[in-house]
Amino acid sequence: MSQKYFSTRTSKDHLSFEEAVIEGLAPDGGLYIPSEIAKLPEDFLTKWKDLSFAQLATEILSLYISEEEIPRADLEKLAARSYSTFRSDHVTPTVPLNKDKNLWLLELFHGPTYAFKDVALQFVGNLFEYFLVRRNAGKKENAPDRDIITVVGATSGDTGSAAIYGLRNKKDVSVFILYPTGRVSPIQETQMTTVLDSNVHTISVKGTFDDCQDLVKQTFADKEFNEKYHIGAVNSINWARILAQITYYFYSYFTLLKTTDGKVTPRFVVPTGNFGDILAGFYAKRMGLPIDQLVIATNDNDILHRFFQSGDYSKSVGDAAPVVHATLSPAMDILVSSNFERFLWYVARENLASTNEEAGAILNKWMSELKTKGKFHVPENALAAARKEFSSEHTSDKETVETIRNVYNDPASGKYVLDPHTAVAVHAALARIAANSNTSAQYVALSTAHPAKFSEAVNLALQGTDGYSFEADVLPDEFKEMQTKETKKIFADKPDIELLKSIIVDELAKEKKTA
Ligand SMILES: *Cc1c(COP(=O)(O)O)cnc(C)c1O
Repeated sequence: MSQKYFSTRTSKDHLSFEEAVIEGLAPDGGLYIPSEIAKLPEDFLTKWKDLSFAQLATEILSLYISEEEIPRADLEKLAARSYSTFRSDHVTPTVPLNKDKNLWLLELFHGPTYAFKDVALQFVGNLFEYFLVRRNAGKKENAPDRDIITVVGATSGDTGSAAIYGLRNKKDVSVFILYPTGRVSPIQETQMTTVLDSNVHTISVKGTFDDCQDLVKQTFADKEFNEKYHIGAVNSINWARILAQITYYFYSYFTLLKTTDGKVTPRFVVPTGNFGDILAGFYAKRMGLPIDQLVIATNDNDILHRFFQSGDYSKSVGDAAPVVHATLSPAMDILVSSNFERFLWYVARENLASTNEEAGAILNKWMSELKTKGKFHVPENALAAARKEFSSEHTSDKETVETIRNVYNDPASGKYVLDPHTAVAVHAALARIAANSNTSAQYVALSTAHPAKFSEAVNLALQGTDGYSFEADVLPDEFKEMQTKETKKIFADKPDIELLKSIIVDELAKEKKTA
């Protein structure tokens, strides 16, 4: 099958995989989706069950990237290289958290930066390099017609380091990550600033996270600058990230199949912010993986939880002004969930439209209402259809802390220390388990970060507990060693676009000299 990609808002232009990945966001503001959701080979349950993570990834990638675009042998190498950087042979192991309750954790934090974003960004970095090497074949070093990508991004924590580790040392790619001075945790800052590769530039901006994001948007909007330096993004709306995440739902399914020795009916519970992680589960299910349920777990930024209750997708509650709540699970602190648009396209297409074009028009209308009025409402039949695919739970900060403490103190869980994002999902899973006691279903909570990255919440929960020590029980040696390593960063003393542009130009010139 030859896959093409089109925007959720127009469905006019059909792009190749490479174009969709390099462009990221469609010019009409929409997100790229595949022209068809791939179907699995009939014998996938027997044929795929013993594959390694990288082999399984190759099988899934090949259903969305045609052979003419990336030959299979190249895909195999890309997948093998991308997952060789993980500390676990299983890449994303599924481990029991509480056997009596049939509760499992899908650990997604064994990559270089100890957070789930590595699973996608290790692959995306190699993919960018692959495309550029191909485009630049036969061109001289530093030739003016060489294709380059200058990735510019803002981070309040996890995305920045995962992007840096995905792109470090990649040929013809430079990466600039902006973060607000003093507002990311010391560990997260050190993870970024100890990367010394010449193509990596970490910029501490005196300002807020919103200032940083505004600067990134202005850089993209500056047409002349953008055309000259080929500004690129690796944010969570990029299709390649969703695609790479589909693999771990399959891998987890096969792990359960082997360890539980019986009927597997997994209910995946996913700590959700921008809806990228759980959307990959939706694609896995639509492809034919027998997933029983997908449960969205939100923190106080609960736009999705409110949507599934009322059908209103609304930035704020009632007449209050829209506000992002600062919670103990900061990687999920969002106002709207950008990837939800992809799911809404399927809802519109299957329930309200008879062509792709009509579905695009509906999405266009909803998204412009969101922009102008701060909300939109979906019809009753569309909401009913959406509820067949997902359900939702909300977890407060207080419940997050209690969950970390209760799990640690529960003898069935062997002193397991949850990170606060994972705790949001575990709390949701435990609520479901309590509500339906006679089920043989497996609950799999997705574990999105190592607890050492979020010491505030973990220590709030566990400080003073008999025998507990953050240094000894939670902090990996790698993090301890990092504190003494050489660092580099650039300081921008005001959030100013001209200042940022001059930093980018200077740094790129320095890179060329050392190349
Ligand atoms: C990004 C992130 C999430 C949220 O994932 P989405 O794909 O945005 O829903 C949850 N937990 C951690 C630790 C993250 O870094």
